[in-house]
Amino acid sequence: APLGAEFGLEGLPLREDLRGRSPYGAPQLDVAVRLNTNENPYPPPPELVADVAEATREAAQALHRYPDRDAVELRTALAEYLTKATGVRLAPQNLWAANGSNEILQQVLQAFGGPGRVAVGFEPSYSMHPIIAAGTRTEWLSAPRRPDFSLDADAAVALITERRPDVVFLTSPNNPTGQSIPTEDLRRLVSAAPGMVVVDEAYAEFSAQPSAVELIGSAELGGRLVVSRTMSKAFAFAGGRLGYLAAAPAVVDALQLVRLPYHLSALTQAAALASLRHADATLGSVAKLAAERDRVVESLTGMGFTVVPSDANFVLFGRFGDAATAWKSYLDRGVLIREIGIAGHLRVTIGVPEENDAFLAASKDVAATEV
Ligand code: PMP
Repeated sequence: APLGAEFGLEGLPLREDLRGRSPYGAPQLDVAVRLNTNENPYPPPPELVADVAEATREAAQALHRYPDRDAVELRTALAEYLTKATGVRLAPQNLWAANGSNEILQQVLQAFGGPGRVAVGFEPSYSMHPIIAAGTRTEWLSAPRRPDFSLDADAAVALITERRPDVVFLTSPNNPTGQSIPTEDLRRLVSAAPGMVVVDEAYAEFSAQPSAVELIGSAELGGRLVVSRTMSKAFAFAGGRLGYLAAAPAVVDALQLVRLPYHLSALTQAAALASLRHADATLGSVAKLAAERDRVVESLTGMGFTVVPSDANFVLFGRFGDAATAWKSYLDRGVLIREIGIAGHLRVTIGVPEENDAFLAASKDVAATEV
């Protein structure tokens, strides 16, 4: 046993509010077909791999020095990408980058949440939102979605008006359910919020819906909007760990107060920049994945499953008598999908066609016993 293994967690002076909590825990299992963490299933093309290798080789020559603390070159490239993707003119000062959008969200709650402050989310949604709230000691207010998992904008506006949370999380498309928030609803929700609004657009590239970045300049909002994005999904860069946000420059100024200096390594910055130069190639997978998603939805529906409409690269489906048992049945057939804690439902990430075929074949078996 490792040194000190006899000392249990109960014996440590852990913060009371963290006692009994569970860490984020998507299982990382060595299974042939892994469709459980919403990654892009297409590996980076050889030209991108070569470019990343060359860029990091060059960066390695200056590894005795700290990296650019403000990641200016990378933020410039991200601003160019997002301007092109959304049609909304963004400057490098509107962008901020970190190690995954999880770190972006953590910095936002460090600066705008914290003790005595409340953040609200409309659940089921991304499980890290309440976990990051807990880590930053932000009180978490869980508000429900409709039984069909869509967001009830009237109820949400009423709740925001009544409870006046310091931070509102809106996830569009929503993970794990897949639906986007219609633009009109999003505008109403954002207008109703008295504090910061975080629109988590991790899966935006998969959706035809306009990005919330167009609201950043809204006078009514006064700069209280944060749109968070990531290179982990459509960009096929989950292993590189690069998330970013678009917001008014004042929000970026606020985050300087809580970020750790040199949080983005020189290697990360170099690799992300190289990867961005190949955006057209990596994002070429988006249309293929959307078509595969539609095929999977149709096939599951044909087998008698209930499928939640999805605007993203994953699909929530059911109903199972017992989701944990069904999840295991898939695993026994070599297919790793995700149990997200929604009764009777599982979530599958869209893979390459052969992986989706394997998933659908397993689904046929599972449906025979379950649905
Ligand atoms: N937001 C949402 C809605 C997500 O699903 C994820 C990844 N599962 C993230 C943020 C964080 O991803 P990353 O830290 O890799 O950018």
